[in-house]
Order: sequence, then C-alpha cells, then structure tokens
Amino acid sequence: MHASPTMSLHDALSNALGADRISADPTVAESHAADWSDAPRCAPSLVILPRTPAEIARALAVLTQYGQPVAVQGGLTGLAGAATPQAGEVALSLARLNAIEAFDTAGGTVTVQAGVVLEQLQTHVEAEGWFFPLDLGARGSCQLGGNAATNAGGNRVVRFGTMRERILGIEVALPDGTVLSMLNRVTKNTTGIDLKQLFIGSEGLLGVITRLVLKLEPKPAAAQTALCALGSFDAAARLLKTLRMRLPGLSSFELMWDDFMVAACEVARLKPPFATRYPIYALVETLGDADEDAQRALESALGDMIEGGVIDDVIIAQSIEQTKQLWAARESVGELLAATRPHAAFDVGVPMDEMERCVASLRARLLERFPEQRHLFFGHLGDGNLHVLTGPFADDAALLAVEVLVYEAVRDAGGCISAEHGIGVIKRPFIALTRSEPELDLMHKIKSMIDPASILNAGRVIP
Ligand SMILES: Cc1cc2nc3c(=O)[nH]c(=O)nc-3n(C[C@H](O)[C@H](O)[C@H](O)COP(=O)(O)OP(=O)(O)OC[C@H]3O[C@@H](n4cnc5c(N)ncnc54)[C@H](O)[C@@H]3O)c2cc1C
Repeated sequence: MHASPTMSLHDALSNALGADRISADPTVAESHAADWSDAPRCAPSLVILPRTPAEIARALAVLTQYGQPVAVQGGLTGLAGAATPQAGEVALSLARLNAIEAFDTAGGTVTVQAGVVLEQLQTHVEAEGWFFPLDLGARGSCQLGGNAATNAGGNRVVRFGTMRERILGIEVALPDGTVLSMLNRVTKNTTGIDLKQLFIGSEGLLGVITRLVLKLEPKPAAAQTALCALGSFDAAARLLKTLRMRLPGLSSFELMWDDFMVAACEVARLKPPFATRYPIYALVETLGDADEDAQRALESALGDMIEGGVIDDVIIAQSIEQTKQLWAARESVGELLAATRPHAAFDVGVPMDEMERCVASLRARLLERFPEQRHLFFGHLGDGNLHVLTGPFADDAALLAVEVLVYEAVRDAGGCISAEHGIGVIKRPFIALTRSEPELDLMHKIKSMIDPASILNAGRVIP
C-alpha cells in the first residue's frame, strides 16, 4: 500500500532534492524520450537529474511512496528500449553523476560515479599508463552505469571479458531509498552471496547503480590490426583457433559477412578493402608490446594461415591511419542502424559449433521471405555473438514475423536471444524462448521482493 500523499509528486521531489534537480520543461523531456532502439518515443512527465547517490536514493523513496513508475536513463544508447519511458513514467537521468572519484594508480582500480561516459574513463586512465578495455561503438555517449546495467560486451570480450569481469565493487540505490554500498576493491572476496551480480546485466530492474569500482589493465604499448579475407565460416573458425593459440595478445576477432561489408562501405562511403569480394572477413586486433616481435608474431601467424590456404588475402595495418581505415566498416553500425529503419536488430548468442549452419539457414529463410530487405550479418565471433541487422520493414506484422523467425532459429541452435544488448521491451515477448519458466518465476520473485511497488523500469525484461 502506498501512503496517500497530499503534495504533488513534483513538490515532493523538489522538497527532497531541491527544485533545480527536477525539470518539467518539454524540451528537456523530449531529449529524454527515447534510447537508440525503435521503441516508440514517449516524453516523460518529469525528468529527475540528481547530483549525488544520496539524492538518487531520496528520489527513489519518494517515487515508491507515490507508486510512481520511473525509467532509469544512462547515456540512452541502449538498443532494447529499456531506457525509453513508457506512458505515465518519469525519467531519472544519471547524466549529472559524472565524477571520477578515485584512481588507485598503483593497484589499477578506479572508483567512478555511474554517469561517467565510457570514453571519458578510457582517456582519463590512459594518461596514467592504465587501460580500460571495454570498448564499443557508442563509447562517446554510453555511461559506465549503463554498461554495467546491460553487462555490455563490445569488441574485446575475447580477451578481457564483458563488463561483469571489470566490476570489483558496486553501489546501488534501492527503491525503498536504501543505499547498498558494496565498493569492494579487492580481487578476491568470498564473503557470502555476491550481491553485485544481481544488479549487473539486470537492466535497471532492481536498483539504480550509483557508483562502480572498476578493474583496469596495464596500457598496451601498441595495437596490431589486420583484416583477413576468407572463403568460408569454417576458415574463420580455424583462423580464430590458431590465433588464440599463437597470439596471447589477441583482443578482437570481429567477423563481417560480405553483405555487411558491402552495406557498410556504401553507408560510410568507404573504398572496399580488397579488389575482389570474399564471402567473409575477419578483423583481428592484438594488444601488447610496442616491440617488433608483436608485429612479427602476427605477420608470421597470418603468413602461415595464407600458406595453409585458410586465409585468401590479408591487409596488415602499417600506421594508425590504416588501423582506423580497417576498423571503419565495423564501426559504421550506428550509420547502418539509421539507414535501415524501421529495422530489426538482433544480438543473439549462438554456440560456435552451430554458428555456420544457423547463419546459412537464417540467411536463406530471410531472403526467401523478405527478398526486398537487406539482411546484414556480423558479430563478435570469439564470444559466439552474432548480430543480424535486417530492414527496412513497412509494417509491424513483418517485423514480428522476422523476430519470430530469428529467435526460433536461435532457440533451436541452443543459443540465447540477447548476447549483449539486453531484453528491454523489444525482446520481452520472446524471453521465454530461451529462459525457462522456473527461471522467469525466480526473476519475478526477486523483483517483487526488492521493488514491491514495481516502480523501476516496470514492464521491461520479465513478461
Ligand atoms: C552504435 C552502437 C554500438 C553499440 N555497440 C555495442 C556493443 O558492441 N556491445 C554492447 O554490449 N552494446 C552495444 N551497444 C548498446 C549500448 O551502447 C550498450 O547497451 C550500453 O551499455 C548502454 O549504456 P547507456 O548508458 O547508453 O544505457 P541506457 O541506454 O541509458 O540504458 C540501458 C539500460 O540500462 C539501464 N541503466 C542505465 N543506467 C543505469 C544505472 N545507473 N543504474 C541502473 N540501470 C541503468 C536503463 O534503465 C536501461 O535498462 C551499442 C549501441 C550503439 C548505439
């Protein structure tokens, strides 16, 4: 039961936080109306812009008291529609919690507020010889709190893991106004249930992440990058296995099928990388020493793979400029998303030994059913993470049909419907395809226990 407040919500929030932390300005509301997904825009009635974790906790206590649903918003680059407000919701933005609070330059850890933008952290720590390896195309806008809430993956998971592996400690504000401060800074900590895992990847359903302690890596002195042209998926899998064995510094292995490469070159106005087209391309990055051994090791491994007939052609970057050119097609995803709207964008997980069959069958079925649309395949192969971007679609019925087609194929392959972007609202109707009823039931119970008034990101993730 909620108390029956006599004050308006606006006044109650103003009292708790200060009037300058609340905005009812329609222009501000419009800038908080949507994330990057195709979920329908909806301007929130109020935008709450706290400056401290304590203010977030106070705001949540008021919202719970009023039974007022809220959309938690980081950098709004999410692709699942979870940060897009729904009718009747207010928005709570982390944008002003953007301080890097502490930096242990000896131990390589950093304590940040949740609203720090990923790229801001990357630049900050590199100045001190450290490296934050999580990296994704939205780095200039996405926030570390959002990365944690979605357990973001990105381009270097094959070596450094997802955001979950970067998080040593976390602070969370709960719907009842409690601040759960678990800012652990040690690598090994076996003291009961590791509660932070509940909040990582749960898309803001259980609490608002306010601070994070993150683990850094020594800054690599150099990156070596190569683009390999391949005749088949089997060749790509063999290349990945060999490079994993021979190059301990292997940090990225991005696959792009030819349909993706052609569309990316078109949308980003790039010159095709090779004179001839190939069925598939692997973008390879190693990070490590600046000495010539690292470059030689890459060249030697790739040379052997050419001799062995695994690679058909290769470009090895000789300068920073050429490295950027090799990444340009892979980094054009934002432009491709915009160019194919209304689209369906999938980030499914498929076991490696099922990937080739799954891609071939999906492509054939998509082309047969939707011959007018573009179907682009790419992914982080090292993590079994396949992206499919398909569109534009004229109507919702076609979008639904393509979703069913892809998710059922993924289920049949023993995969999962989201490997990194999360479920949000977009994939909510399909979560039961790859999560069992008892699992969903437990999710429900945990949500009801922590957020009994269901104010936080209600109507997302769990059906
Ligand atoms: C061009 C482009 C490329 C991308 N590439 C990748 C990629 O390679 N890998 C990948 O994993 N993702 C990728 N994404 C998706 C997106 O960038 C990530 O999901 C990112 O982690 C979202 O962060 P955000 O701050 O923008 O979160 P938002 O979009 O604001 O929110 C996302 C979710 O997190 C919740 N949330 C945000 N902040 C908090 C908080 N402090 N506490 C609790 N919940 C919170 C929101 O409620 C919502 O559920 C890409 C997106 C774009 C546009």
